[in-house]
Amino acid sequence: MSEALLQVSALTKHFPITSGFFSRPVAWVKAVDQVNFKVSQGETLGIVGESGCGKTTLVNVLLNLIEPTAGQVIFDNIDLFSCSKEELRTLRQHLQIVFQDPFWSLNPRWLIKDIIAEPLNVHLKLTPLERVKRVEELLDMVGLPNDAVFKSPHEFSGGQRQRIAIARALALNPKLLVLDEPTSSIDIFSQARILELLKDLKKSMNLTYILISHDLSVVHHMSDKIMVMYLGEVVEYGPANDIFNRPTHPYTKALLNAIPDITTESLEEISELKGSVPSAVNPPTGCRFNTRCTKAMDVCMEKKPGISDIGYEHTANCHLI
Ligand code: SF4
Repeated sequence: MSEALLQVSALTKHFPITSGFFSRPVAWVKAVDQVNFKVSQGETLGIVGESGCGKTTLVNVLLNLIEPTAGQVIFDNIDLFSCSKEELRTLRQHLQIVFQDPFWSLNPRWLIKDIIAEPLNVHLKLTPLERVKRVEELLDMVGLPNDAVFKSPHEFSGGQRQRIAIARALALNPKLLVLDEPTSSIDIFSQARILELLKDLKKSMNLTYILISHDLSVVHHMSDKIMVMYLGEVVEYGPANDIFNRPTHPYTKALLNAIPDITTESLEEISELKGSVPSAVNPPTGCRFNTRCTKAMDVCMEKKPGISDIGYEHTANCHLI
């Protein structure tokens, strides 16, 4: 893999809970806390965790939709939070997202040609003919016929709508695509085809992906690296095959246990995930997983575990290591 396209350091996002006439903060939702990772050019990073783990907030900060509380994001050698407006505009072209639900992410009143051409109109000065040609090219790339241009979103199936959303995301030749649960809202038959399309596009366009999914089978199939998040923190990070073959953090083991056909070296040790994610307003002290961990010890309630390197670029945060 080449150098990092995206480098995230100590990224933190806390949301205030306000009260009273002056809306003073009375508590903070610790949605993302001290998150570090990097994504190399051409790599797919899968981010997994239950809802409330912070992955959506993380993506919104990366896309500059919300401001971080602290931390740094370097994308394509530019600091996302201190760059000029012009640099930010360029970065936006290279950092695109495919949303989970193609039923609401496409404007139902627009024709497909206008939906796909929207980013072209915002960022590039193309002639009408150039624009039509580019839209047709993009439709071809995602396996849809040219006559789709004069149709509306409702004339397409869920899988086809997701192809349209992918075409729009690719319109400006991005370097990095965030795929936010890209197959969770479409039928089972279209899911595999969309994943294969994304794999093919990644290869042909040298794309880099951040894949958010609760489906670990999808993440395993697509990712080079995996980052497991729990209650706003990274608990395990490493090469996808290594994480699946030797999951180390009890939370990762419990997540993998939910996959019916999982085979790992330490299957007998894998515990079940019980209970729900605690509130991010008042997370447990020490290790945030301690209220649900079957291996929790006294130290886990008092001290936050540091990052342990377990080889092959694989790390986990747990006092057992
Ligand atoms: Fe469980 Fe303790 Fe490890 Fe946290 S640090 S995962 S509570 S054993």
